[in-house]
Amino acid sequence: MPRMLDVSDEVRAEIGDEEAERLLGGDNAPDVYDCTSCRTPGNSERERTSTVLFVGEETAVLAFAHASCIPSQVVPVAEEQLQGAVRSITAGETGGSAAEQSPMQAELGVTSGLVLVGGDVQPALVVEPLGPIARPGSDGPVDVFLELLRAQGFAPVTDVEQAPPPLAGWSVLLAMGRLHAVLQPPAGGAAPQAWWQAHQAMQVADDWRSAVNRAGRVLVYAAPHGAIGAQPREDLLRDAMDRAAATGRLVGASMPLAGT
Ligand SMILES: [Zn+2]
Repeated sequence: MPRMLDVSDEVRAEIGDEEAERLLGGDNAPDVYDCTSCRTPGNSERERTSTVLFVGEETAVLAFAHASCIPSQVVPVAEEQLQGAVRSITAGETGGSAAEQSPMQAELGVTSGLVLVGGDVQPALVVEPLGPIARPGSDGPVDVFLELLRAQGFAPVTDVEQAPPPLAGWSVLLAMGRLHAVLQPPAGGAAPQAWWQAHQAMQVADDWRSAVNRAGRVLVYAAPHGAIGAQPREDLLRDAMDRAAATGRLVGASMPLAGT
């Protein structure tokens, strides 16, 4: 049975005409799928469905999404992230490209949560290193995490009620309904590179995912080690963010989803 599939020109160029026709004809295409964007079920026989091709250096993964969620497109991702989407990356292994490109020498803890900003519930990520960040090449005790982020364009957050401004070129990679990475602008090549990537694609709550789809962006906050800590509830997370903001220890940026 034919499928109501959108195969964009760029996806077609990657997979070839033959494979595109096979998909459109109903071969090799699932009738039901979990939308790669909002993660709710879709049916390619009954509703318009976008083909989304995640392309790494060596691997490509074809996924499906509601056409109302995202258009058919090619999403370049680092090979490590793509492998992460297919299988779990062994804990303790760091992504080669991220480690080489990034001045971050310590592990980053990332928490997803809904935060009330200006009266609206906003999807947020809060990033906090698991230890102090020393300047690369030094072993000094000074934590330069915020300094490095401000140099990259993150804005100081003095009041959590004000959403931080967008940061050009940065995005959040959510694929197959899981959080894979925070991407930063390419250093020289064409593809964005991971600033942070999950060792293992991170499960996010359904209401967080819906909020992302509604807002079309994620507010990414960062605080130095020890400023936020592990908070078991969103109201406590917000309290900790307010405290960090009040003491000048919070920066943030608004980021779209990768590929949008
Ligand atoms: Zn969807």
